Amino acid sequence: MTHLDTHEKLKILSADSQYDLACACGTSDHDRRHRGLEGRWLYPVTLANGGQSIMLKTLMSNACRNDCKYCPLRSQTNIRRCSLAPEETAGIFMNYLRRMTLYGLFLSSGVTNSPDHTMAQLNETAWLLRRKHDYRGYIHLKVLPGASDAAIEETLSLASAVSINIETPGAGHFAKLSQRKDYLADIIRPLKLISRLTARGERHARVRTTTQFIVGASDEKDSEIVNYLFGLYNRLHLNRVYFSAYQPGLGTSDIPGEKQSLQNPGSRLMREHRLYQVDFLVRQYGFKAADFHFDQDNNLPLDKDPKQIWAERHPGFFPINVNRADRETLLRVPGIGPRTVKTILQRRQLHKLGDTSDLGLKGKRRKQAEPFICFAS
Ligand code: SF4
Repeated sequence: MTHLDTHEKLKILSADSQYDLACACGTSDHDRRHRGLEGRWLYPVTLANGGQSIMLKTLMSNACRNDCKYCPLRSQTNIRRCSLAPEETAGIFMNYLRRMTLYGLFLSSGVTNSPDHTMAQLNETAWLLRRKHDYRGYIHLKVLPGASDAAIEETLSLASAVSINIETPGAGHFAKLSQRKDYLADIIRPLKLISRLTARGERHARVRTTTQFIVGASDEKDSEIVNYLFGLYNRLHLNRVYFSAYQPGLGTSDIPGEKQSLQNPGSRLMREHRLYQVDFLVRQYGFKAADFHFDQDNNLPLDKDPKQIWAERHPGFFPINVNRADRETLLRVPGIGPRTVKTILQRRQLHKLGDTSDLGLKGKRRKQAEPFICFAS
């Protein structure tokens, strides 16, 4: 472990936290893959109400005993390792808070001695902020793979939000990426426990829960990820699912996704983007599993967005009469999102809608919608 001052450690640990995307408080595309301000540890976030703020995001340690093949922090890599102590981390955060408006803190870590030893460091930091500094704002804590039930319960009592990364759709893909972690015992068990303890009416119901898939590190298909996505929302009641495209060069040369990522570098981020579109259609538009079309390789087509594909494959559903259609039907029209639907529903109470200029649609979105709508009485 390297001996560094707090500033140097923060520089390293915050940079290493960039691979974890499961922490944006808002839903903006802008938040994902965004480095901190001036390459530092203060990350811009879009809030649920559309406003902007900043969050301190860092690891407590980049030392890790695990062997995840896609991760640059795995035990086998030769990087500069360092750790922040709980008092040190809480002190840094409070110093910033005194000087500026911060939305909150995102804290994660590599797994140092054991999952519970590391969880104790994360929990102690949150405890110091809550009890010693009386901080009542946003704290997002990572639940580490393999954490015990008791450590997770303590985390839930301190955090505003927690996440544990599922990484892959199923144990088979997971086993191709890590020999030391056990999918069912280390990931699915904690996810189920968190789901139970944060269910409506339970003691920790106020805690938001999120997870993240690493996309393209194994040879998983989009159809498998989408299938798991529904399980995570419907059975485990997670608040958000995030996706992080595997970055070639960060993993081992024998990783299943390495060759594919190097052969087709542009596709990995587009794949991540398409999965985010699916996620949005599920959460905001009421799309079901059967509404998504996959190509012969069981992946989402990269050349068109999933909603456009659904519309083109259902010609009998269109054209939609925007003067009569209900909210769910309007949301099926390409180019029309929840905000435009709200505008349509409000305006048609005042007068009959006559053409696309009445919908508040412009440019590309207007062109997308036109073939699928009509303006009958
Ligand atoms: S447990 Fe986390 S930090 Fe450690 S190697 Fe795996 S992904 Fe990286």
